[in-house]
Amino acid sequence: LSTWSAVPAGPPDPILGVTEAFKADKDPRKINLGVGAYRDDNGKPYVLHSVKKAEKLIYESHPDKEYLPITGLAEFTKLAAKLAYGSESAPLNENAVAITQSISGTGALRIGGAFLARFYPHSKTIYLPTPSWGNHTPIFRDSGLEVKQYRYYDKKTIGLDFAGLKEDLKNIPEKSIVLFHACAHNPTGVDPTQEQWVEISNIVKEKQLFPFFDMAYQGFASGDISHDAFAVRYFVSQGHQVALSQSFAKNMGLYGERVGAFSVTTADPEEKARVESQLKIVVRPMYSNPPLSGARIAATILGRHELYSEWEKEVKSMADRIISMRHRLHDNLVAQGTPGTWGHIVSQIGMFSYTGLTTPQTKALAEKAHIYMTADGRISMAGLNAHNIDYFSESVSRAVK
Ligand code: PLP
Repeated sequence: LSTWSAVPAGPPDPILGVTEAFKADKDPRKINLGVGAYRDDNGKPYVLHSVKKAEKLIYESHPDKEYLPITGLAEFTKLAAKLAYGSESAPLNENAVAITQSISGTGALRIGGAFLARFYPHSKTIYLPTPSWGNHTPIFRDSGLEVKQYRYYDKKTIGLDFAGLKEDLKNIPEKSIVLFHACAHNPTGVDPTQEQWVEISNIVKEKQLFPFFDMAYQGFASGDISHDAFAVRYFVSQGHQVALSQSFAKNMGLYGERVGAFSVTTADPEEKARVESQLKIVVRPMYSNPPLSGARIAATILGRHELYSEWEKEVKSMADRIISMRHRLHDNLVAQGTPGTWGHIVSQIGMFSYTGLTTPQTKALAEKAHIYMTADGRISMAGLNAHNIDYFSESVSRAVK
């Protein structure tokens, strides 16, 4: 008998399943709207010019391949913190942000979960929005936290259930940990407005909740780095201590390079040093120290004026292409007299859109039109382009009628 004979087969990943069905389909019109990675207007993966230039500069400098420190490349984490918190940030300017490089956003969330499970003194429960990114629950459970939910999305309006969100935040135990998507909520594409963030900040203060921001899409959502950082920067300006996960997967297109950072704002440099010493103790037994290559690329772009400006433009052009697809889709659906309201397609933000399509409709789209998306009706806007947008709109219109 094999040692592993009692290991049960785990369920397949729902998103990878979509990609497999797509690959097996031989129809030339097929569209994959499952993947969470940017595609250009020809449906191809896109490597940013600023990234290519940074790679060239790095290559020409013949760097060594020594180990990084446990918390990563200092030049990178310094610039990542500045990008997120802004150059005006008080804790940043007081040298009170504890930060470590991480294996992209996922690794940042995992380090954060483990650190909070060990040291957050008031609670071991983190509250997630319903729904949230599918990996949040297993990340925080495996980190040692208990996971609970607060209301977020309203199926009826295909928008934010702001009343439900406020009621839930007011009713959860004081000092609980609450996860917020800083911008471009995945999977819904529904974000609070700035006015709503102000109200959320007030409730967080009243109930002394601890905010943990997941910022996987800074710049990628609106095309504007500071606009997308509004929630994080506003909370910090209001005196909240925050935890923050950052990813450079989407905004620099560095998916497989695994570049990210986890940080917390602390009271002063002495406290920051103590917190960082514990972040090291979290990281060291997991993977010792992070990978070099992506952090060098990100640091080169963030640290050089010309590359930074070029990158800013490229982020904006990716965001703008997605926003223009939202408008085309919306206008097509309305022009075709598609039953229902479609304003949410343009009011939503970021890579994903909750279309409001039902599971049977998504099935029909796969079978009849060779269009693949997750069963909850979420589409990656990045999978749409000038060549397939009309075919996609007509197919949706037909599926709904
Ligand atoms: N958080 C959210 C909300 C995401 O959508 C993603 C990626 O899809 C991540 C975190 C982490 O991604 P990565 O580990 O590739 O940075």
